[in-house]
Amino acid sequence: MVDPVRSLQDAKPLPFWLDDPGRPQAASTLVSDTRCDLLVVGGGYTGLWTALIAKERDPSLDVLLIEAQEIGWAASGRNGGFCESSLTHGLGNGYQRWPGELARLEQLGARNLQAIENTIKRYGIDCSWERTGSMTVATEPYQVEGLHELAALAGRSGSQLTVLDADAVRAEIDSPTFLGGVWDRHGVAMVNPARLAWGLKKACLELGVRIHEHTRATDLVRSGAGIAVRTPYGQVRAGRVALGTNAFPSLLRRHRPYTVPVYDYALMTEPLTDQQLASIGWRNRQGFADSANHFHYVRLSDDNRILWGGYDVIYHYGARVRAEHDQRPQTFAVLARHFFETFPQLAGVRFSHAWGGAIDTCTRFSVFFDLSHGGKVAYAAGYTGLGVGATRFGAEVLLDLLAGERTERTALEMVRRKPLPFPPEPIRSAGIGITQWSLARADERAGRRNLWLRSLDRLGLGFDS
Ligand SMILES: Cc1cc2nc3c(=O)[nH]c(=O)nc-3n(C[C@H](O)[C@H](O)[C@H](O)COP(=O)(O)OP(=O)(O)OC[C@H]3O[C@@H](n4cnc5c(N)ncnc54)[C@H](O)[C@@H]3O)c2cc1C
Repeated sequence: MVDPVRSLQDAKPLPFWLDDPGRPQAASTLVSDTRCDLLVVGGGYTGLWTALIAKERDPSLDVLLIEAQEIGWAASGRNGGFCESSLTHGLGNGYQRWPGELARLEQLGARNLQAIENTIKRYGIDCSWERTGSMTVATEPYQVEGLHELAALAGRSGSQLTVLDADAVRAEIDSPTFLGGVWDRHGVAMVNPARLAWGLKKACLELGVRIHEHTRATDLVRSGAGIAVRTPYGQVRAGRVALGTNAFPSLLRRHRPYTVPVYDYALMTEPLTDQQLASIGWRNRQGFADSANHFHYVRLSDDNRILWGGYDVIYHYGARVRAEHDQRPQTFAVLARHFFETFPQLAGVRFSHAWGGAIDTCTRFSVFFDLSHGGKVAYAAGYTGLGVGATRFGAEVLLDLLAGERTERTALEMVRRKPLPFPPEPIRSAGIGITQWSLARADERAGRRNLWLRSLDRLGLGFDS
């Protein structure tokens, strides 16, 4: 085999999706004091959906969105583009935490996914939305049984997964490493993530949302009947504030222990030729992920590149979010090796882009909410690597909470309860280190979880991407 590292020779150190001539110009910086009814902090999907839905619910509301850098530059513009109906970071996690609510959560998730599709159509957002579904594949014999259990759980929760044996899964996507799979045909769409973010920005502007980019919120305090948020050149006085700042330090100090930023990485190949694509089958264009604790997620772009991401999940001491963490050559080399082991037919293919980004991991792997300042400030975070779809649901909950309304969403136990926080450093780093090591070992030992992982399972604590 040719050294896989050679395939990285010309890879640009940039997220493929953001390296797009269609990237819009940033809106101006806020340079004065202003007022609004609703201030949204953060211009990723959480913030964009919150601003858009707020305007759709009440067109007379004065909504302002501020973004520290540019709309969609962070996780929302650099993710895998798997837009999933699951609100619970997968069925297994949902069942473990909210068994009594799972069927309801699955229904709400399916509705949420459909609402995203409807919004894309309504505003004519050009984001290569493909309702192809996604497969989970087994690459080790012990994982095959797990897939059958997953399909049975889906059946009990009102969803449907198609079980595929080794021949059937290889008839879909031909890798010699595939031993079986399940295909969720309805609950997942593939999307160009950056274009979705930019399209939501355009839709927000069309509805009259005011947007300022390169405008970081530096401070948030109570002010009269509302809230004052400071920015480098101005101040916003707002009736209500929605925080969608994801893996970045929360403006509310007490929220910081609930999430940690972990870095996830991805490669994008150059476009495959028709012959290369034919060599691996893949007619139906569904995404796929494998079933290990340290899993890969893989999909086609609309110009037939392969995005190959996942596996390593890197936490930096002190919960640091830094631009330099977006590049990690040792992870890219490992990913490249795994790519060619999975698709030996593609020997010689090269990678055009290599990048990483921060995920807001919480101990229950799915979004949680909180209110502060007498119900005037609401916060959503903790999507843990599955927020492309769930952020729209999160935005609806934020708006319900800020309106003080009891809805079918705010009545959910998942919404009412928060996860356990992470311990402070240095215990945090040590705990994450032991957990990572244990998860890698479980992958090597046919999935067997050691005492440490079993103890965390019993406490309902975890670490995932
Ligand atoms: C490499 C990678 C792959 C992923 N793949 C998938 C996938 O395939 N499917 C999936 O469902 N999920 C995936 N995710 C996760 C998904 O991208 C996120 O859950 C989702 O984008 C979160 O959106 P957000 O708006 O909450 O956060 P972000 O997109 O991170 O946006 C937060 C924004 O807040 C801004 N901000 C922060 N602090 C301030 C402040 N003080 N003032 C003003 N602005 C501020 C930031 O600049 C940023 O733009 C992936 C993530 C990564 C990194």
